[in-house]
Amino acid sequence: MSLLQHSATDLLSLLQSGDVTSQQVVQAYSDRAATVEDQVHAILQPTWESALERAEEIDRRRSAGELLGSLAGLPVAVKDILCTDDFPTTCGSKILETFRPPYNATVIEKLRAADAILVGKTNLDEFAMGSSTENSAFGPTHNPWDLTRVPGGSSGGSAASVSADLAPLAIGTDTGGSIRQPAAFCGVTGLKPTYGRVSRYGLVAFASSLDQAGPFARSAQDTALLLDAISGHDARDSTSANRPPTSAFAEVEQPLESLRVGVIREQLGEGVDDEIRVAVEASLQAFQQMGASLIDVQLPHARYAVATYYIVAPCEASGNLARYDGAHYGLRVESPELGSMYSASRARGLGEEVKRRIMLGTFALSSGYNSRYYLKSLQVRRLIRNDYDQAFENVDLLLGPTTPTTAFRIGEKSDDPLSMYLGDLFTVGTNLAGISGLSIPCGFSAAGLPIGLHLQGPAFSETTLLRAAHMYQSVTDWHARRPPL
Ligand code: GLN
Repeated sequence: MSLLQHSATDLLSLLQSGDVTSQQVVQAYSDRAATVEDQVHAILQPTWESALERAEEIDRRRSAGELLGSLAGLPVAVKDILCTDDFPTTCGSKILETFRPPYNATVIEKLRAADAILVGKTNLDEFAMGSSTENSAFGPTHNPWDLTRVPGGSSGGSAASVSADLAPLAIGTDTGGSIRQPAAFCGVTGLKPTYGRVSRYGLVAFASSLDQAGPFARSAQDTALLLDAISGHDARDSTSANRPPTSAFAEVEQPLESLRVGVIREQLGEGVDDEIRVAVEASLQAFQQMGASLIDVQLPHARYAVATYYIVAPCEASGNLARYDGAHYGLRVESPELGSMYSASRARGLGEEVKRRIMLGTFALSSGYNSRYYLKSLQVRRLIRNDYDQAFENVDLLLGPTTPTTAFRIGEKSDDPLSMYLGDLFTVGTNLAGISGLSIPCGFSAAGLPIGLHLQGPAFSETTLLRAAHMYQSVTDWHARRPPL
């Protein structure tokens, strides 16, 4: 059996027992990358060379009997929006093409402390704005299940890395679905933690009240392993929740007794692919067979989630991206005058979608429109949150589809931003409410494309979601299927 067939959890035991070395593990993934990465383009900046050196060091420390971290010797790919002091951090943007952060994100520090091995910085939509990874300034990532299709986005490179076996674990970020939607499109497991669960220090800001980093893996169990390593309070992020790291890995195999599952009926009607509806309904039955009770719930304001998100997120982005002016970071287009230096640098360095968001946000915040758009969106955001609070009075988690369609073709929606935005219908509410959400594979379309099941839970319920997902993955094998690459 090839090393790539093992879960991260299994690899960890093989490493601990001395049956394999970390160098062998990293080498196996690096060989795989050498054969498929040309077709997938998941990784912007591969770091195999330094990864092999790190692996050697970890193997040496292990044989010396040293106590090692919880991910010791395991490869992890990280979205290129988390600051690394030893590799460029481009955010998929021309404007940061040569940017080398002077410090590491907390997530990166935590991975280091856990003795994980960084194998690459993964591709993304520029500044995480998008749903297809086509907005990367460095070319799109291809879906490992069908290379003519998108892997989803914005963390498409991370999802595709796990799907194509370039790494057993990956980190993404999710502002409106950017972990869960690519997880669904690529047939892997992806978790958006509760807002505040994982530190945002060193995560380049898109929409600060929504951004959250989280894990990708094949299974819920492996996802739990990675979440435990990156979560926990961080004094350097003022919005970080004052809670210890999760201990989901230790609990993930415990089944949930008398689980109450909320079914969002509106999400199983019009506008959702038939194949997705059928797959999600079959998963509902699987949960029922495992002893869960199904309860219909309503989220009356969910239909406003996309409109609300596409005001809140661009408003925050327009402020956050003001710092890319040619004076402080990255690209500068020299100009005799300061004002024209700013505009020329931004005009050349930023892509079309990023400019669209800056203009949307600037407009919605401008005097005269501020209360009509921005303040109104904050009020609706509260109503969306209230819907979830009410639903969670009667159920432990909510089940529905992650996306209304399976992966679309590269180029299919590039000229139609509105239809791209509408694809985020089921995921943006989770971020607006600040709660936790998980996508797991639950079937395939007739065309052989993966389908994602969306589990949403109250704030800080990640362990419950992962336990429910593990129960499901113990009786199904969707998560274990590999693309024919
Ligand atoms: N697709 C959404 C957007 O374009 C979400 C992106 C994200 O979660 N980073 O904004």
